[in-house]
Amino acid sequence: MSHNPGALGAFTLTIGGRPVAGGPTFDVINPATGRVVATAPDCTREQLDEAVTAARAAFPAWAALAVAERRRFLVSMADAVDEHTQELAGLVVLEQGKPRPVAVAEVAGLALWLRQTAGLELPETVNQDDGERWSVTRRLPLGVVAAITPWNYPVGQASFKVGPALLAGNTVVLKPSAFTPLANLRLGEVWRDLLPAGVVNVVAGSGSLGSWVTGHPGFDKISFTGSTQTGRKVLASAAPRLARVTLELGGNDAAIVLPDVDVKEVAPQLFWAAFANSGQICLATKRLYVHEDVYDDLACELVRLAEQARVGDPSQGEVDLGPVSNRRQYETVVSLLRDCRDRGYRFLAGGLPEDGGGGWFVAPTLVDDPPESSRIVREEQFGPVLPLLKYRDVDDAVQRANTGEYALGASVWTHDPEAGQEVAARLEAGTVWVNEVMHLDPLVPFGGRKQSGIGVESGLAGLLEFTEPQTLSVRRSRR
Ligand code: NAD
Repeated sequence: MSHNPGALGAFTLTIGGRPVAGGPTFDVINPATGRVVATAPDCTREQLDEAVTAARAAFPAWAALAVAERRRFLVSMADAVDEHTQELAGLVVLEQGKPRPVAVAEVAGLALWLRQTAGLELPETVNQDDGERWSVTRRLPLGVVAAITPWNYPVGQASFKVGPALLAGNTVVLKPSAFTPLANLRLGEVWRDLLPAGVVNVVAGSGSLGSWVTGHPGFDKISFTGSTQTGRKVLASAAPRLARVTLELGGNDAAIVLPDVDVKEVAPQLFWAAFANSGQICLATKRLYVHEDVYDDLACELVRLAEQARVGDPSQGEVDLGPVSNRRQYETVVSLLRDCRDRGYRFLAGGLPEDGGGGWFVAPTLVDDPPESSRIVREEQFGPVLPLLKYRDVDDAVQRANTGEYALGASVWTHDPEAGQEVAARLEAGTVWVNEVMHLDPLVPFGGRKQSGIGVESGLAGLLEFTEPQTLSVRRSRR
């Protein structure tokens, strides 16, 4: 593995408004080449303590600000993101591997989420206001929030947490994935001069930093996005002190294609539903249930799109799909592909990647009607592989779509939106779309049911996850 860690300059943790170099460092690898692109400071336990102490010290003054003041800070954070769009997107391309336009859109999304979140109102409910009593329920901040994010959208994931946590009056310690720390560390550097010291701290670490964070007694709330497996650990480590948690976890979203679709029209939408960001989206379509009347035609169109897709290093020219984002995920995807091959399932496009070459590339792969019990159907692939599953009876498709531990998103595709709504109403998922997929809005909550999560992000409901209700009741008349 060749090293060129100095090329991007030095990255620092942000603790108490100051740059902190960290003691040791760890390597950040470009998944398109397998080469080290930079080294990141590896936060020590002592530095985590300092970050929590700084956030705790900043909390009373931040919480005491008028909400209008905090709104202004969020808007200036959004402006700063806009000013650094190209630089931040460049870092995301290098550390995560996605095509540049997708990275630019991701950074723009952070600015949009900050601005839209800034416009939300914290509700205050007057329960009683008469001669006897004045009673009001307000939403108060929780204190110090740990924001832990995955590697698929390093900047985008921060947008679901940082804005609402701050608007509600909390202070934050942001911890990105060890695979993709760079853009988040840079965000800390960009924001540190705009905000009162300690309001946003950014730490990164290669080893046990995640579990140090979730076990740390100084956090009042853990807002976690990642796998269901890690989510269970987070919940367990929050339990002894009853720290509040929001968990946004894995998904295995089903799309049900009804027989009345226009195949040519829906094929590109379904292709990108599954393969955008190389399939590494929690809400990507991960199982495609297709009515037998249109199965062959749709499969044919999807194969054509898979063969046309340009897969490659996004730093070396225009591509549609970058690599799988890290070796660990690549191995997960390859293990699922091997299982398909060993069991004799047919690949309509793509298949097991050949060894060799620097990056972790997997061509968009379509698996032809594997059994419902197969690993590629039951497990979350989180990569560019899609099983096509044939059905005859829509009740059977609904029942199969609702099977399993995950219930994040789902979609229904049809010429008849009303018929689509009837099927959608029977699907178990946090969000169900008809004739579209993955549409998110800063003002609309999303989250998972079953083992896809606890709580929601975005919208008023997402903001309230960073608060607790307090009722103030004032007796006016003596009995
Ligand atoms: P992951 O669970 O491995 O890691 C997520 C984060 O948790 C990272 O920052 C990691 O460093 C940290 N972490 C690891 N072990 C920890 C521990 N023991 N305690 C505390 N923190 C720990 O997930 P990943 O591989 O980064 O992300 C992929 C998963 O995330 C997929 O399952 C995907 O569906 C899910 N995801 C969900 C959503 C959503 O909104 N529901 C969004 C994006 C990704």
